[in-house]
Amino acid sequence: MKCHKKKRVLRKNLFYMGAVVTVLLTAMAVTGCGREAVEKITCSDTAMGTVIQQTLYVRESEDREADDREEEGREAQDDADALPARVMDCLNDLEAQILSWRLEGTEVYEINQSDPEAGYPLSEKMSGYLECISQVWEKSGGALDVTLGEVTRLWNIDAWAQGLGAEEEAIGELGFQIPSQAAIARGLEDTGFEKLRIEENRIYLPEGMSLDLGAVGKGIACDEILALLETQEQVQGAVISVGGSVLTYGSKPDGNCWKVGIQHPRESGEYLAILSLSGSKCVSTSGDYERYVELEGIRYHHIMDPETGYPADSGLISATIVSDSGLLSDALSTACFVLGAEKGLALAESFGAEAYLIGKDMEIYMTEGMKALILR
Ligand code: AMP
Ligand code: MG
Repeated sequence: MKCHKKKRVLRKNLFYMGAVVTVLLTAMAVTGCGREAVEKITCSDTAMGTVIQQTLYVRESEDREADDREEEGREAQDDADALPARVMDCLNDLEAQILSWRLEGTEVYEINQSDPEAGYPLSEKMSGYLECISQVWEKSGGALDVTLGEVTRLWNIDAWAQGLGAEEEAIGELGFQIPSQAAIARGLEDTGFEKLRIEENRIYLPEGMSLDLGAVGKGIACDEILALLETQEQVQGAVISVGGSVLTYGSKPDGNCWKVGIQHPRESGEYLAILSLSGSKCVSTSGDYERYVELEGIRYHHIMDPETGYPADSGLISATIVSDSGLLSDALSTACFVLGAEKGLALAESFGAEAYLIGKDMEIYMTEGMKALILR
């Protein structure tokens, strides 16, 4: 984990500088209510198969008795230093205990192995996730379907795109194969959210069906991080990206809004728009440029149309959603990508979320509320 820290503020606490030698004093400023020292910590690491970037603004109250200051200062510093690692622990636990379909012993793994007759007892968390997922599944007409496991594994695009590099020309020679139509048809027989039953907190998954929460995992991660940050009084604000989902939390010491860029789907490192967000929000993007392989000029990406079993071809190449809930923003970004512009906008609006959708010819479709969030 790479971490950097910057001290942003302070009144008479040059005192602290002896104890906190690694901190860089970069600016003198005073935040809104009272005077506080605010430290900026940035970190970059990997978890859940993706890059995690954290920027945390951690405050140190100055209303301490002088005698206690040094000791408390050290404790506060220890707490602040430990925060990025706690965020990483939270993500690794989520992956290792609940979400991964690959790791033996996770809840998803156990559900996928469970006896269709006996069912499997759902944790409170998983019950909550599935409740929200089922609403998006229903309102999207099945465009988001977390029972697509058999089909997504057949394509295995995530592994190909990661292992070989998206631009690998010899990808076919190296072994990537388009699944046969017969295999896709067989895979589709084992999918369909309507076929699973949840009764009295037990899930009954039909024989052959498997859950894949890849479409919502990063958003769930943002919700879990938010819950963690809410218990950390010293955190004034944070912006944390988990792959295609970004969480903003609290406020920036300079009083400005959080700025989150919408990636240009064809020009890496360029942004089509900058969103200006305040407080806790989650921004999720699903795009055909994130994970794909190209074979004979055709791009096979990782977002499947549950009706056909092939990569979705709705006319969109990117879908970004802003919502108060990470799970919802992630679920909706996938569903909108599959549905296309018109139905996607209506779906996002029906959940009170904002959408920024990009078509094949770089045409932009937005909900009314999204327009107000765009800085440029
Ligand atoms: P995202 O990048 O959030 O759109 O999620 C894509 C991931 O979700 C894929 O890597 C698959 O694991 C899974 N997935 C693909 N298509 C769908 C779909 N239509 N509904 C639910 N999950 C999907
Ligand atoms: Mg998603």
